[in-house]
Amino acid sequence: IRLGEYAASALDAVAAVVAEHETFLGKLDAIAGDGDHGIGMRRGADAASAAAAEARGTGVRNVLLQAAEAWSEKAGGTSGALWGAALTAAANSLGNRGTYGDQDAADCVNAFVSAVIELGKADPGDKTMVDALLPYAETFTHEQSGGATLSQALAAAAKAAKRAADSTAELSPKKGRARPLAEKSIGHPDPGAISFGLIAEGVANTLE
Ligand code: ADP
Ligand code: MG
Ligand code: MG
Repeated sequence: IRLGEYAASALDAVAAVVAEHETFLGKLDAIAGDGDHGIGMRRGADAASAAAAEARGTGVRNVLLQAAEAWSEKAGGTSGALWGAALTAAANSLGNRGTYGDQDAADCVNAFVSAVIELGKADPGDKTMVDALLPYAETFTHEQSGGATLSQALAAAAKAAKRAADSTAELSPKKGRARPLAEKSIGHPDPGAISFGLIAEGVANTLE
């Protein structure tokens, strides 16, 4: 797997998906949160894809580190800090080699998810992006160990993340800004889980 070349294109896909759904994500966050999830994610993803483009050719680890720094600097908000930390951890899970194997991709996914859990301290069922991240990582690892290609594993994991994100609708928020307005949130999915599912789908499509 040439992850170095893949990282910058994947971040372009992230920015495109976020831009496409910016208004929808903002409206979803306005139901029980402060309505800035669309704009925050767009600022972060745009800055990350620009930084990744600038760093293209310097190796996947550096590409992701530059993107992470740009994302957390420009996005603001809880999700901006979490995405910045997650991308930093994903970057640091990789060395600066030219080629990578299946295990590197799995390590990268697991580092991303662990960083969000470590920083945000959300438990499964708290109605956060963690509820989409955990099934994503589980499915990715499971598919890869079952012999799936990278693109197959990414597609299966994205499907699992989207399904899990939709299922957060029934949950009551235990973390983040939506908690004080928990009743309003019930019946609507968590914005950060939904944006992650959409992004995962976009990233999977770039490798097809
Ligand atoms: P803010 O809440 O600061 O306005 P955003 O609106 O961009 O930031 O992001 C909100 C999303 O962040 C939530 O929908 C949720 O998925 C995620 N989130 C909030 N707090 C946590 C946490 N402690 N752990 C994991 N994810 C969280
Ligand atoms: Mg918000
Ligand atoms: Mg906010």
